[in-house]
Amino acid sequence: MNLGKVELHLHLDGSLDMETAYRLAKERNVIDETWTYDQFKTKMMVPSDNPSLEECLKCFDFPIAIMQDKEALSECTYTLIRNLNELGLIYAEIRFAPQVHCQKGLSQDEVIEAVLDGKKRAEKDFPNIKTGIINCCMTYGNAKINEEANLETIRATKRFLGKGVVAADLAGAEGLCPILDFKPLFDLAKELEVPYTIHAGEAGPASFVKDAMDMGAWRIGHGGHCTEDPEVLQEVIDKGIVLEVCPTSNIQCHCQPSYEEHAIIELFRKGAHVTINSDNMTLSRVNTHSEIDKAMTLMGFSEADIRKMTEYAIQAAFLSDEEKAELMKKI
Ligand SMILES: [Zn+2]
Repeated sequence: MNLGKVELHLHLDGSLDMETAYRLAKERNVIDETWTYDQFKTKMMVPSDNPSLEECLKCFDFPIAIMQDKEALSECTYTLIRNLNELGLIYAEIRFAPQVHCQKGLSQDEVIEAVLDGKKRAEKDFPNIKTGIINCCMTYGNAKINEEANLETIRATKRFLGKGVVAADLAGAEGLCPILDFKPLFDLAKELEVPYTIHAGEAGPASFVKDAMDMGAWRIGHGGHCTEDPEVLQEVIDKGIVLEVCPTSNIQCHCQPSYEEHAIIELFRKGAHVTINSDNMTLSRVNTHSEIDKAMTLMGFSEADIRKMTEYAIQAAFLSDEEKAELMKKI
């Protein structure tokens, strides 16, 4: 369908350009010369039939190993934005966790600078697409393990706000510990006036969505499980909370049963502000077009519904009112 497309929820490390990743992996000895392109590709994508969460998480090993220096970070960001432009996107928020790219001595600031360098080069070469960077804090199941790195991510987000970075996030293995354990991060974000979204209610329960709202999030990554608690669902609807839903990724990770029974259908019909996103383009073998196609062929959404969701996405983008009005004109 002819519509300017928008992505609010896209992970850099799960969406790498395959040929760029293969080249960088060889150059950086992440793989040796015996690896063929097809072998490499297989390791970068989830097995198509019923993968376990472990298999899904394994797919991030190569991207993280590859992106430990400035050139790789910049190049991976550049080629992703180039690909998004080819897909006809007019706006994309790309997220990544600076702290996982510090294994070879880069500081979080240096990591962010390298990503912003790739973004700047891409936007110069491909002026039809606009992008914003979201810095993810990480959960590994115990908030204390990396609390200092996470607080540094919030502080770094503040330093780069208005320079290409638009917000912070909390990503990682949801549900291993209470999401409220991460409250200090969002208290700091509020104090510094750093906007944020939070992954909640993907693998975790409806109560996590409630907790994320209580911590001040008005945008939530996934959030599908909020339908399991009528009160939480009602609050999501009443407050106009924006849910960044990623249908295929949710199904692959066993967080939603199928396209036909995905919570996004009920959520949209009840008036919740849901948006459709790719999450991880390479890892999940999807892109913006294929997700919209699934939404229309398997989930019963009409072209008007997709347009409505695109409007929700633009209204919720981490952009100024003027910038949002510009995007509205393009859809
Ligand atoms: Zn995500």
